[in-house]
Amino acid sequence: MYPSARVRRAVEQLRTVREHWGSLLVAIEAAPTAEWPPAQLSTHLARQAADEVELLVGDRAPLTLRQHPAPANLDALDAALRVESLLFDLADTLAAAAQRPIGRRLVSSPGRPAVWTVDEVDAGDPRRWTYRSPTDPGSRRHGLHWAAVWVEGRLLDEDTEPEQHAGAHSRGPALFGLLPEHLQHEAVRVAGQCERLVLVALQLDARSTGIGRPCPWCAAELTLHTDPHGAPRVTCPTGPSCPAPTGADKYGRRTWRAAELVELLATLDDGPRIERAA
Ligand SMILES: [Zn+2]
Repeated sequence: MYPSARVRRAVEQLRTVREHWGSLLVAIEAAPTAEWPPAQLSTHLARQAADEVELLVGDRAPLTLRQHPAPANLDALDAALRVESLLFDLADTLAAAAQRPIGRRLVSSPGRPAVWTVDEVDAGDPRRWTYRSPTDPGSRRHGLHWAAVWVEGRLLDEDTEPEQHAGAHSRGPALFGLLPEHLQHEAVRVAGQCERLVLVALQLDARSTGIGRPCPWCAAELTLHTDPHGAPRVTCPTGPSCPAPTGADKYGRRTWRAAELVELLATLDDGPRIERAA
């Protein structure tokens, strides 16, 4: 069945969380700065590099299992730990309700009565979410990415058709059942909450901020607009009378985006600042 609009939105939100996870891990190790350039922009401009950063960071071990001797950015660490715990707990809850229990097999050996044992193949199915125990982190060991992908699979009703089991002659029960409505609702809610936590921690939520630098053409203070679903842009509040050689937005404000924005930033790097009243 085609997923509903709210499920599709939640899936997008989970993907946003995964896409920004590398940036958030990097942010934990970097001291937050209120200085130039604005954090939102440096994060955005470094975005293309973020995937590489994550590969370099290499291990996707969850934060809860890592040592953080001296995290430089406590807000980022708080947000990341919160997101992990929300998603891991959600996966536990969904698995308890919608994941088929591990099968048992009747094993007989000559001269002994047959006994039921855990079906190791079924237990080791990599699609399963495994719970943690006091000695084993279970699926948590694979980190946030896997938890987000797994929850996405449940939202999209993946692997809910009867399937062929190893050694069986007929199709057996599916690995997952459809999520009951209240749990689908819960998954949608948690996905939105995680996306907000990540975007706010990276200051990539939708916001407009004065950047403390004057427009090089008219000296009005420039404003930075960020939105998680679009590229950042900078506008000059003066309107059409500002002679800056760039296009205008629908309000007539001179607007810098993409390559123009990179150029503008370079110009502003060495330019004057707006003095603010203390
Ligand atoms: Zn201007």
